[in-house]
Amino acid sequence: QVELSGVGKRFEQYTALQRIDLDIAPGELLVLVGPSGCGKSTLLRTIAGLETIDAGEMRIGGRLVAGAKAFVPARERDVAMVFQNYALYPHMSVADNLAFGLRMRGVAAKERRHKVQEMAKLLGLEALLERKPAQLSGGQQQRVAVGRALVRDPQVFLLDEPLSNLDTELRNQTRSELKRLHQRLSTTMIYVTHDQVEAMTLADRIAVMEKGHLRQVGTPERIYAEPENVMVAQFLGHPP
Ligand code: ATP
Ligand code: MG
Repeated sequence: QVELSGVGKRFEQYTALQRIDLDIAPGELLVLVGPSGCGKSTLLRTIAGLETIDAGEMRIGGRLVAGAKAFVPARERDVAMVFQNYALYPHMSVADNLAFGLRMRGVAAKERRHKVQEMAKLLGLEALLERKPAQLSGGQQQRVAVGRALVRDPQVFLLDEPLSNLDTELRNQTRSELKRLHQRLSTTMIYVTHDQVEAMTLADRIAVMEKGHLRQVGTPERIYAEPENVMVAQFLGHPP
């Protein structure tokens, strides 16, 4: 579904991504971890089409979206992303926030209402549709941000530390909801987190990055049992 081969990204002199090779299967939930500044957000942004790449190529659903001679911009990729500092539109109701992307894509009003209802039901937001974001808790806002991204049924869903500003209880709760949502929708997901519990419980596979390199990719069990280097071991709380 998502295929990266030799993907590189430079910011002036600085190389943020170094020859990344990674294949993500349809419906897989890949968790991306690694120290601050290692390139996680940059990798997600290149997949979303918010950044170009300087080397290698990238395919989504078999289609070449980035390479030496190709660049498909974000709005033409079937990819949705939720950022750490997701911003809802403050002047719009929850329902209008959810419908926004559909309206931008010219989806008819009747179908918009239907899809918004469906997403609200899935995320337990039915009672909140008329509220403004300021009248919601952090966790509810988070669910609206996820709903707004998912409502247009993207092939690939990218989440960049989506739960980092929630308290522990809300985090656990929202994490289980995300897991359930993933099982239900079988959307391909890439999920960035600093939280090792989150990584171990959510992931089909974990990908560990360090200094722009992909160091290891594998099931949580395998990475925990056989970390490839000290950094990976330390990150997963399992020093050698
Ligand atoms: P964190 O866990 O702190 O969010 P990260 O793994 O997401 O870190 P990135 O945001 O991908 O890290 O950044 C990777 C490197 O690229 C960092 O050294 C960062 O300073 C650099 N970088 C990112 N965006 C830019 C940019 N627009 N211009 C220049 N350098 C950048
Ligand atoms: Mg980041």
